[in-house]
Order: sequence, then structure tokens, then C-alpha cells
Amino acid sequence: MTEKYDLIVVGAGSGGIATARRAASYGAKVAVVEKQHLGGTCVNVGCVPKKVMWYASATAASIEHADDFGFTIDKSGFDWSTLRQRRDAYVERLNSIYATNLEKSGIELFTGHARLSSPTSVDVGDRQLHARHILLAPGSRPRKPAIPGAELGIDSDEFFQLSHQPKRAAVVGAGYIAVELAGLLQHLGTDTTLVVRRDTPLRGFDPLMRDSLIESMAIDGPMLRNNFTTASCEQRGESLSLIGEDGKHLDGFDTVIWAIGRDSATDDLGLENVGITVDEEGSIPVDPYQQTCVENIFALGDVTNNGFPLTPVAIAAGRRLADRLYGGFTNRHLEYRDIPTVVFSHPPLGTVGLTEPEAEQEFGADQVRCYQTRFVPMNYALTAPENKRRSAMKLVTVGPEERIVGIHIFGEGADEMLQGFAVALRMGATKSDFDNTVAIHPTSAEELVTLT
Ligand code: NDP
Repeated sequence: MTEKYDLIVVGAGSGGIATARRAASYGAKVAVVEKQHLGGTCVNVGCVPKKVMWYASATAASIEHADDFGFTIDKSGFDWSTLRQRRDAYVERLNSIYATNLEKSGIELFTGHARLSSPTSVDVGDRQLHARHILLAPGSRPRKPAIPGAELGIDSDEFFQLSHQPKRAAVVGAGYIAVELAGLLQHLGTDTTLVVRRDTPLRGFDPLMRDSLIESMAIDGPMLRNNFTTASCEQRGESLSLIGEDGKHLDGFDTVIWAIGRDSATDDLGLENVGITVDEEGSIPVDPYQQTCVENIFALGDVTNNGFPLTPVAIAAGRRLADRLYGGFTNRHLEYRDIPTVVFSHPPLGTVGLTEPEAEQEFGADQVRCYQTRFVPMNYALTAPENKRRSAMKLVTVGPEERIVGIHIFGEGADEMLQGFAVALRMGATKSDFDNTVAIHPTSAEELVTLT
């Protein structure tokens, strides 16, 4: 059999494209197969359009806040369709930049559904491509609940197609997507309820972060409805109702958004043809080198069981894989730990490393010491007391040297603050390293180096 390519990448999302381009930079002959738009979830129905809308909603919040500083602002409304049009045009520009970059890197792009036909071949329609290595990076897709009336609600992909702004929305779920969509809708003017089945959103996050988010939501929404397990969704007259397992109902929504998690996109990939089986979550198991149970087939990103379905994680893992396969870096792979991440809530919430409960479990409670603060940042200094929003920060340290193993930040600027602090954590910084760093005043970030 002629080996036509060194690498075939299935899926032109962030991880797939990053791997393909890095491999091509080493001279590998690469083909990428994609059935939809270039850029995958992140560019088309995830991080990018979400962040654009988050900026819009943060702008709305700033406008609300402007009278604290003496402005009189005559708001003449917000036009959803203008935002959507400009956002989509931006996404289209990114799609074409991705296409140009693939072309510049000498990568061949095939449009269609890819199916493994053997450990070294992939079928795309009636074409068969052969390669030494195959990378599976098809991503994931939003899940809808298996309950009556689920079809009346939309998922996050469909959210980005909404032509009109919802007037009254319910967002069902408790993770990143639920919190982010509920927050941005609320701040753009939709009366929004976040419907959580347990007692809090973001259950796996540090308790200080969760409490601070809930406190902030109580000031200006979205409304939190917790301990509500949705058993069905019904059309009642003009509006939608959520019916709880206990028979209680939430009524009067024009839009219901399901944000209850995502499933790996493994359908019809031909995994059975090469002997790859998915785990109980439906994900493809990989080792720390992204290798599946088949020696020359690799997988990365949301389709795998890595536990971090995040764009930069897929990109980092892919570049390291290409370095190893084609660049001569024999042991290169991503360490799946201490990965910083931000939830774009209002205000944002950033976290890296262990939460306080996780650190106590890993090291023992007597080894863990936390430093934390809650404070009103200076941009609310002139705001009426009932509208002041508090920021919160926590350092989780372990051992007598107080090595920092967790950093958690909630508040304005958390998204931009965390990256540098994550470097310090990864380098093994201790509390005294933070103490020995001179504060930048007046900022919120200075609180992290002045905690007592
Ligand atoms: P998540 O897995 O983060 O959260 C979904 C949550 O919804 C579950 O943890 C669960 O929380 C709750 N849930 C599950 N089933 C139901 C149900 N039937 N009814 C009500 N609630 C339910 O999924 P997301 O879809 O929010 O996001 C997927 C991933 O995408 C994230 O984990 C993240 O890694 C990534 N992402 C990252 C972003 C960022 O970096 N800013 C933004 C968006 C996504 P509980 O058990 O507590 O009820």
C-alpha cells in the first residue's frame, strides 16, 4: 500500500489544525478532513462568538455603571441582529484565515465525513486516504436531556443561531456554558433564570468562587433557581414551562436553553474497524502521549477522556504530539495538570490548580493553609452600597514552605490576571514568593500578593 500522507487529521478544530500545522512545519505531508466549518466548536459555536457576546454584555454592564461616575447616558437600545451580524462576519473572517493558513502550510483539506477503514486509512466519501499516522480530533457536541419536550429547547449551537433576542429565557445546567450564556443574556437585557438541579452552579469549583458568583448573581441576575430537576418541558399557550420532578413548574419562558454537558463526537468514525472502543462516557481513551489503543492512531481534544475539554489544552497537546512524531522530541507530551481556566461569568472567574477541598483530600487538612479575601474593588467605590459587587481571591498552599497549589480569582479582571499567576504556580511559587513581590497599586491583582 502506498502511504500517501504522513498524517491524516480528522477534524479541523483548534486541536486538529494546530497539530496539522506543527507537523507540516517539520516537513510532514498532512491531510485534514473536516465536514463543517474550519475552526471547530471554539471558533464557530464556542469561545469566539461567546466572548464577542460577553464583551457586548460587559459593555452593557459598564453603561449601567456609568452614572456612578457622573455620566448621564441616554440608551437607545441594543440591537441583537446587529451584534449577531457583526459577530458572524468576524467568525467568517476567522474561517478564511484558517483556510489560508492551512494552504500556506501546504496541508490538503478534504471536506466531508471521515471514517476509519483500517489503522492506516480513512474514507472520505468515495476517496480513500492513507497515512502513517492518524489523529482523531472530531471534538464534541452539546447534549440535550432525554426528557419529554427536550426538542422545545435549544442547545448552545442553536443559541448562536438565534435571530431574535429572547425576552425571558431559562438556561438549564450548572457548568461553564450554562453560567456564561445565562450571564451574558441577562446583562444584554433578557430576563434570565439559571436552572440548576443541585444546590449550586459550578459545583467542582472552590466554594469561595461559587459563593461569590451566587452573591453577585443576587445583585443583578441572572436569577438562580437551584434544586430544580427538570422532568419535562412543555408548551403552554405562547410560552414554555419547565416541569420539575417534584411537580413544581417554572413558567413563562420564550426560550429554553439546555447546557447540561457535551458528548464526544465519535459517531460513525469507523472506530470498530480498527478496534478502538469508547469508555463509559463515550470518549476515546488515550495515554499521556495521546495514543489510542492502536499504535499509530492518536486522539486529542474533547473526543478524548483527558478531563479538560478546553481549546488551549487541545492545541497544546497537538503541538506536542507533532513535536514528538515529526520534530524529534522523543518524550514530548502535555502534562494534564495545573491548567488555568476562566468562566466568563459577570464578573469572570479564574482558577488554576487545586480547590481547598481537593488540596485537603490530596495532602491532608493539616498540611493545607488557605489565604483569602473578599473586597469591593475600587471601580465600585462610588457605587450605591446595594449595587457594590465584591471580588474574591484565594490562595491554597501546602506544607511548611506553603507552596501554592491553587489560585482562585473572582472579579473584574480575573480573566486577564490569572495567566501570569498560573506561571508562578507551575514554577512552584510559595506564599513568601508572593509576599516578596511588590504590589501594583491600586489594582485588584495586588490583593494576591498582600494576603495575610
Ligand atoms: P459541564 O460538564 O461543564 O457542566 C454541565 C453540568 O450541567 C454538569 O456538571 C451538571 O452539574 C449539570 N447537568 C448535567 N445534566 C443535567 C441535567 N439533566 N439537568 C440539569 N443539569 C444537568 O458542561 P458544559 O456543557 O457547561 O461545558 C462543557 C465543557 O466545555 C466544560 O467542561 C468546559 O471544559 C468547556 N467550556 C469551557 C469554557 C471556558 O473555558 N470558558 C466555556 C464553555 C465550555 P451538576 O451535576 O452540578 O448538576
